[in-house]
Amino acid sequence: MHSEMNRDERIRRVGTLLPDWFRENARPLPWRKDRDPYHVWLSEIMLQQTRAEAVTSYYERFLAALPTVDSLARVEDDKLMKLWEGLGYYSRARNLKKAAGMIVNDLGGVFPSTYEEIKKLPGVGPYTAGAIASICFDLPCPAVDGNVLRVFTRLTADDGCVDDPRVKKRVEDELRPLYKPGLCSVITQGLMELGACVCVPNGRPKCGVCPLNAVCEANRQEKQLSYPVRAEKRVRRVEYRTVLLLLHDGKLALRKRKNSGLLAGLWEIPNTLAENEDAATPTGAMAFASALGAEPKELLRQTSYTHIFTHVEWHMTAFCVTSNNEPEGLVFRTPEEIERGHALPSAFRPFLEFAKEIPGMTDKENDHDPQ
Ligand code: SF4
Repeated sequence: MHSEMNRDERIRRVGTLLPDWFRENARPLPWRKDRDPYHVWLSEIMLQQTRAEAVTSYYERFLAALPTVDSLARVEDDKLMKLWEGLGYYSRARNLKKAAGMIVNDLGGVFPSTYEEIKKLPGVGPYTAGAIASICFDLPCPAVDGNVLRVFTRLTADDGCVDDPRVKKRVEDELRPLYKPGLCSVITQGLMELGACVCVPNGRPKCGVCPLNAVCEANRQEKQLSYPVRAEKRVRRVEYRTVLLLLHDGKLALRKRKNSGLLAGLWEIPNTLAENEDAATPTGAMAFASALGAEPKELLRQTSYTHIFTHVEWHMTAFCVTSNNEPEGLVFRTPEEIERGHALPSAFRPFLEFAKEIPGMTDKENDHDPQ
């Protein structure tokens, strides 16, 4: 029976097997408590680059601080960035606020309820629009991301390259007939859940507990790991950077990044490109401090750390330098003040921790003399 099944039949059977499995096995994630489009939208944006387990606490903290679209539209940028701190890809947070402003100002505060209107919101692509439209409004709009492509290409033993937008479009078209009235939400969420928990991206899929195992062609052929087929990975650019931990009076210098490009508009520890690994030297750090207007006094210690972004790797060497002054263009804060009010991208967090260990860098209010 299994071997004779054709492709259409395999896909069609998903419509009967998946909903029951999802209803019985769905993880109780906080954004599944209701179908409020604000909640689903926020969770989908947070989940774009992060696993559900990690997103849960961010999601709950964010909603406690900004419970409505209106409050999101009015939030101050620094507070928004603080709520997003650690999730990375900060343009997602900025787009959320921009879209909230659009809903409040242009749409009378009502969340859009068609796929096309949802897709017009900043930061919302076809996947997120499909997720919101199907989960919140029961519309026949497949939400196809890497997880769903993996499930689908294994189910049908499809060797189309999943990095090709035409393949993605075709998968959407083939899934659409499963989106029957009353089932749209559960099909979208079931496919996502299956991709996250059973037909997993790393290591062998758990076919033994998969509701689709009797109809899955890759399982039948025992070729699960041959799918999905991907284009060759692009090589990441490597940058070497000198990072300056400039200290004055128990405080660390920060500055704002420019409003475009990587980590746009966020706070950073001052840093500059070095020609190569060996070019990040104490002398270079002192010269960089002077170029920023500091009067560098003493080089205390150094450390290094590598941070990997999607398209670039930063190999950073940081130097702790004391300064006689606080030059213009930089702000000086204690580590505790930074924790409380400044969103610092993950790339710089290890240096903040490093700076905290330097004598004299604890918050003076909380500083107890051990004597
Ligand atoms: S049977 Fe295995 S390969 Fe097929 S969809 Fe399920 S987990 Fe994935």
